[in-house]
Amino acid sequence: RAKAAGRNGYHFYTTGMHAEALKRLELDRWLREAIERNELSLAFQPKVNLKTRDYTGAEVLLRWYRPEQGFISPAEFIPLAEETGLIKELGMWVVRRACQQLSEWRGTPLSHIRLAINLSAIQLEDKELVHKIDNLLREFDVPPRQLEFELTEEVFIQNIESNMAHLNELIKMGFRLSIDDFGVGYSSLAYLKHFPISCIKIDRSFVSQLETNADDRVIINAVIAMAHNLNLSVVAEGVETEAQAAYLQKQGCDEAQGYLFAKPLPPDQLYKLATSLRNGTSLQQG
Ligand code: C2E
Ligand code: MG
Ligand code: MG
Ligand code: MG
Repeated sequence: RAKAAGRNGYHFYTTGMHAEALKRLELDRWLREAIERNELSLAFQPKVNLKTRDYTGAEVLLRWYRPEQGFISPAEFIPLAEETGLIKELGMWVVRRACQQLSEWRGTPLSHIRLAINLSAIQLEDKELVHKIDNLLREFDVPPRQLEFELTEEVFIQNIESNMAHLNELIKMGFRLSIDDFGVGYSSLAYLKHFPISCIKIDRSFVSQLETNADDRVIINAVIAMAHNLNLSVVAEGVETEAQAAYLQKQGCDEAQGYLFAKPLPPDQLYKLATSLRNGTSLQQG
């Protein structure tokens, strides 16, 4: 009996692996078609200044709608694209679309908005990355101060020398850099001394339960204090409640992003939001 169960277990295991591998293969194939089939789009999630509640910019988030399947989450396809290297192409598509969008918003209330674009560590392996970004800025006449790049911690841990060189080039060109998902990646903080970063984004996992979890509050307070002592600004991710916003503001957190303020919006909805704001300075860069 035990043997049969064991065999069954093994059988289920291989079927499971096989199904998973097939699904990934299929997803990879679909994703390779996505650009040509016009299935990709950008969503924009506003960031706010916690004190004034003014909008200070927006994060660019990739969206994939496949008519046969509906929306497929970036949490599912970005890691796959990173493994296969397709992220290099997708990532450049995102930068191109973002620049094109900025040029379309010229002369509107979104004229000077600053957009934050996620850059994967894999994209930094592309020796031509900085050159390609520079070309897009020229093509769409976008000033570098309108773009910021969000990097995750592995960028500062792996391929340090070449990554450092690329990031310094981006800084020289006038872009801002921030660290995304801060606190969930690596325990080493030494890189903060060496890399030209301007902002830390506290990961949502520390924010979501801060009202009931004292450890999360301790970590948040420590990150804010450390960041400010290093002259970095702090953005909290995933703020969903007024109580979370109030706590973060009291602790001196500079900015926040989350469903409490706005969900990631398609461009026309961001445009509507911007034109509905009375204050002409809102949604301009902070
Ligand atoms: P991220 O860069 O940390 O982006 C924040 C994620 O949190 C987004 O998920 C956003 O929709 C979600 N979010 C924002 N506010 C809230 C909130 O109040 N509550 C909750 N529960 N979630 C909130 P999304 O759009 O699904 O993206 C997931 C991840 O996929 C991103 O995490 C980023 O790592 C990656 N990603 C998305 N677009 C791109 C891209 O263009 N390039 C690269 N390399 N990665 C991307
Ligand atoms: Mg991000
Ligand atoms: Mg993040
Ligand atoms: Mg995050």
